[in-house]
Amino acid sequence: MKTAYCVPVLMYHHVSPVVGSLTTSPENFESQIAGLARHGYRGLTAGEFADFLAGKPTPPRSVLITFDDGYLDNWVYAHPVLQKYSMHAVLFLITGLIGEGPARAHAGQQGAALPSVSCHLQAKALLAAGNPDPVMLRWSEVLAMQETGSFEFHSHTHTHHRWDLTGDSREVCLQHLKQDLTDSRATLQRRLGAVSEHFCWPQGYFAQDYVALAQASGFKYLYTTVAHGQNLAGASPAHIFRVAVRNRGDAWLRTRMWFATHSIVGPLYNKWKLWKRTLRAKA
Ligand SMILES: [Zn+2]
Repeated sequence: MKTAYCVPVLMYHHVSPVVGSLTTSPENFESQIAGLARHGYRGLTAGEFADFLAGKPTPPRSVLITFDDGYLDNWVYAHPVLQKYSMHAVLFLITGLIGEGPARAHAGQQGAALPSVSCHLQAKALLAAGNPDPVMLRWSEVLAMQETGSFEFHSHTHTHHRWDLTGDSREVCLQHLKQDLTDSRATLQRRLGAVSEHFCWPQGYFAQDYVALAQASGFKYLYTTVAHGQNLAGASPAHIFRVAVRNRGDAWLRTRMWFATHSIVGPLYNKWKLWKRTLRAKA
């Protein structure tokens, strides 16, 4: 069997008609997902991706679609599109921000009055004000998505705090992180009946002591926001590269994926992107 050389891991946050940072419009999202489906791509489960990293043969047209945080718009706009094209995605939940109450309407329900959604800045303001429900998912929506198979759910900590920025000593910061991971694992176990070994760093921050702590807490597959590398069979599960998806159509996404996964061009492209970033940082 021909096997994938490299599996691209895509990173989304919002799918929403309210434009802003970290947002893909519903039109572009559908264009991207329809394009992947049309070209024979399959959205892996986190378990299948783990098998690929461990060396199990995996079809060349494989992709891991990931979402961070757990915004309401993922249910309203991304879930119906994934369902329509039988595509599967992985969502890293901030478990302490997921709410109670009945599932709200989504765009796949004809004639339904959709809940209003917020841009990333508005969402941040509502969260800072202690009012997550208008911007975050509810457990009823999480369960509905899990049942249909559009999404599966993993940990993105319980609070999404950047403990390293609080000014506390490193020891205190690690204690906070440990509690955050423990609470997140317990919440997933209680709400969904299972917790996995897959974990995504809040705001992409990690250091060696963080990695060791996450591993000791039961997380083996650690997802970064670093794009300049390839996920190859045999690569370390402790440093998974992800490509941030832009608010562009299907042609852009497939070109980006081609560069990210090519055995010769990919590493050169990644070096060039990293070099450009270094130049920008120096400027
Ligand atoms: Zn996040």
